[in-house]
Amino acid sequence: MAIDTKVLANLGDNANLIGGKWVSAISGETFDVRSPATGEVLAAVPKCGKADVDAAVDAAAKAWSVFKDVPRYVRADALRRIAELIRERSEEIARVLTMEQGKPYDTEALPEVVETAFNFQIFAEGAAAWEGPTIAFRDPDKRAHAIYSPYGVMAVISPWNFPVMIPAEYIAPALLAGNTVICKPASTTPLAMILTSQCIQQALDEFGFPAGVFSLLTGPGGTVGEQLVTHPLVDLIGLTGETTTGEAICSKAGIKKTLMELGGNGPQIVCDDADLGEAAKAAALGCFYNAGQVCCATERILVQEDVHDEFVKLLLAEVANWKLGDPLDPRTTVGPMNNAETVAKVEEHLADAVSKGATILAGGALEDRRPTRLYFQPTIVDGVSRNTLLNMEETFGPVAPVFTFKTDAEAVEIANESRYGLVMSVFTSSLKRSHYYVDQLRAGNIIVNDSTDYWEAHLPFGGGGGTKSGHGRLGMRFALEDMTYLKMVVVDVAKCG
Ligand code: NDP
Repeated sequence: MAIDTKVLANLGDNANLIGGKWVSAISGETFDVRSPATGEVLAAVPKCGKADVDAAVDAAAKAWSVFKDVPRYVRADALRRIAELIRERSEEIARVLTMEQGKPYDTEALPEVVETAFNFQIFAEGAAAWEGPTIAFRDPDKRAHAIYSPYGVMAVISPWNFPVMIPAEYIAPALLAGNTVICKPASTTPLAMILTSQCIQQALDEFGFPAGVFSLLTGPGGTVGEQLVTHPLVDLIGLTGETTTGEAICSKAGIKKTLMELGGNGPQIVCDDADLGEAAKAAALGCFYNAGQVCCATERILVQEDVHDEFVKLLLAEVANWKLGDPLDPRTTVGPMNNAETVAKVEEHLADAVSKGATILAGGALEDRRPTRLYFQPTIVDGVSRNTLLNMEETFGPVAPVFTFKTDAEAVEIANESRYGLVMSVFTSSLKRSHYYVDQLRAGNIIVNDSTDYWEAHLPFGGGGGTKSGHGRLGMRFALEDMTYLKMVVVDVAKCG
């Protein structure tokens, strides 16, 4: 299955959207996007700079002055139409997504595009349910209500692991709330987002919204991303990315409102009263789905020592279900990793663990005889100690690191010590024990008896506890509340006509 050449032509250097028009970078510069699956150049896209950022922000700010007054239900209808258009083009978008990101087409890329459309749909449907509070007063002449008001121009800066679904998690609520949006996708994976942006712009045009409600800029995060963050007319910033990127952006953003969806180091805790078969299956999914390049991936598996041997046997059996290969081949369940930097980090973390006594039981290296040096074998590493990079940092690769613990208190201590707090999961058959963990784990999301990767689009999702996973929430009204400010309106009815 190849990408249609007409689709690639569609991704040429006129691939940025500013003020409702498809344009190249003002400088005329481009950069290549290469496939991690084959190594080939898929397209050359605009390399934007300050002049492009200024033009996009100017158009977005002008559009906002009209768009903010469009009734919410009309904005919701436009979101519904975007969902429809994405669904119509889902196979085309998913093929490009597979080629630029590396994720398997059938099991991951197509579902991601379907989920992207679903994000637009659920925010369209949520329009009616989102109401502000009415507040009682001590003064009998006063009446008051609060309005969720859009901030203005929102910059959405997104990563390469879910190149279309993550932008949608911001764009859908931001538009429903009445903000205008400028999206800057990750530089290794901008292509599927260009196609998705065509769907967004088509719907916005059909509704006659002002040019500039939605813009797309491609280019390096260090320049384009930073210029968006520091532009005085950008009011709100959403980043999904690495913790270090979040820190860099927050230090530049000053008092601007930010949503920071950052790294994770999700442990899956396996207690001795757990269903070990289910726990092993969930751990394999959490470690190997999207080659482990997921913020809520199972980055660590903490197993109670008396069930360790049995669990590891089951996990070794599970790894056989994760087949590394060409992501367009339907038999493949693990594709190449997205980029060389992430592979280097995985290799560094594994070497560090082995030097501190860990043993690799499966995989552990890049596979030879592949078109690129990005095909990393699904890996199980046992006997990992706490003083390792695997324990303290996000690894972001197809690695299942097994640690052991003696008591629940020790498991909690290990789980919390890296200061990431995105998603943690616990397997136990005891309700009492599960709630001990719910109370003690410092994370924005706790899953009992399922994978750390368990997720639904409408649930509030974000960091908690330790600061390294960021702040703010994506998911239905929680995202809408983070993308608006409360405008409190007080009326003295005694003085009204
Ligand atoms: P990065 O932080 O490297 O990049 C994310 C985005 O930020 C990219 O568009 C990048 O541009 C841009 N960027 C980089 N530097 C700057 C800067 N100084 N100013 C403004 N923008 C900048 O993340 P990855 O793409 O590597 O994504 C993986 C990370 O994302 C992992 O840590 C993962 O855990 C996290 N993540 C978090 C999720 C959550 O919900 N909490 C969900 C999914 C992923 P460019 O590509 O051009 O460098």
